[in-house]
Amino acid sequence: MSASFEATPAWASAQDAADPLRAFRDEFLIPPHEGRDSIYFCGNSLGLQPRAVREAVNAELDYWGELGVEGHFKGRLPWMDYHEFVRDDLASVVGALPAEVVVMNTLGVNLHLMMVSFYRPSAERPAILIEAGAFPTDRYAVESQVRLHGFDPATALIELQADEPNGIVSMAAIERALAEHGSRIALVMLPGVQYRTGQAFDLKAITALSHKHGCLVGFDLAHAVGNLPLQLHDSDADFAIWCSYKYLNGGPGAVGGAFVHQRHATAVLPRFAGWWGHDKATRFQMGPTFVPTPGADGWQLSNPPILALAPLRVSLEVFRRAGMDALREKSLRLTGYLEYLVQTELADVLQVVTPAEPTRRGAQLSIRVIEGRERGRALFAYLMAHGIIGDWREPDVIRISPAPLYNRFADCLTFAEVVRAWMRAG
Ligand SMILES: *Cc1c(COP(=O)(O)O)cnc(C)c1O
Repeated sequence: MSASFEATPAWASAQDAADPLRAFRDEFLIPPHEGRDSIYFCGNSLGLQPRAVREAVNAELDYWGELGVEGHFKGRLPWMDYHEFVRDDLASVVGALPAEVVVMNTLGVNLHLMMVSFYRPSAERPAILIEAGAFPTDRYAVESQVRLHGFDPATALIELQADEPNGIVSMAAIERALAEHGSRIALVMLPGVQYRTGQAFDLKAITALSHKHGCLVGFDLAHAVGNLPLQLHDSDADFAIWCSYKYLNGGPGAVGGAFVHQRHATAVLPRFAGWWGHDKATRFQMGPTFVPTPGADGWQLSNPPILALAPLRVSLEVFRRAGMDALREKSLRLTGYLEYLVQTELADVLQVVTPAEPTRRGAQLSIRVIEGRERGRALFAYLMAHGIIGDWREPDVIRISPAPLYNRFADCLTFAEVVRAWMRAG
């Protein structure tokens, strides 16, 4: 693939001009830097605001002003069913049946709610398998669930150690962990894309392997949703959870999502119940007995936050128009170009942590400065001061994520030019 890349402004702008998705950039507000567009590579942390969001939020404020409580039933998109207006688009982004997904709460809350149902430890099978170096919330959540059930994290929290350089975990390592501990593991809880290394995991293979050992499987898709085309239904995973403010551009603190596989749609499972999870047909009879709505909707607790759902609805509509397959196609080339520039122009100073195989990563490249953490911090500060927005993850990683909806090939080239200027500045 690299043979087709060139490190010249002419090549990069020709690519941008020929990009079938190029018009989508204009649908987003690009944060300015010193009077010009910044080079925003931080969609893995907080995606940009679609321009249409303001009007969508204002419309709900207007309905509230004009209709009051009647807004639940009137208006273009009555609030009563509002979470259903995002369902089909979300289902297609994650490759699920509509009834398998629900938009609710935030990632950490959904992780707990899912574990209430799908982490059912016993004396023989008390353990959860997670990756070493998991995102803090995931680590805290599983550890607190282990304790809640009266088990000791020292023995019931099994951490999958990286076996490849730079914290990358091979499928063989997962196989070995399951061969060794599988009979004690109640739940396998792994990421879709690891937040620090950018490694993408094979959800289907992990699920098949884990099920073979009798373990249930959940995935944290914080960095995968809207980044990789997912086939959650076909992956056969038991559940998944994600946030919507990263690649999905749902806005700061956006409402998160959850997937529950169809086979659990009507299963009798322990769960934390709330009135919005109650069967829709009889919810307003206000009876004392909880009857869950079949499917993922049955895990809802509360009536949904309309002002927070409006941006997500707009943003998912952008994904529908762009299409995950087209986004992935561009993403492969865009991230491939960034990698090419690092390897051919900057290899003396930078090292890419993220796997080189395109099937093992999404948009993000995690980059380390070879001279060490202090120089890494210095480069990161220099990039930010020059309007190149990435983010820093301890201990020594700069995450750069070209998002195919609004990043350009020229952005990658500018990144390389600014790094070279930093090198010259010493
Ligand atoms: C972003 C992220 C979170 C954030 O959780 P919130 O509950 O949305 O604050 C959790 N886990 C992972 C892996 C993440 O990348």
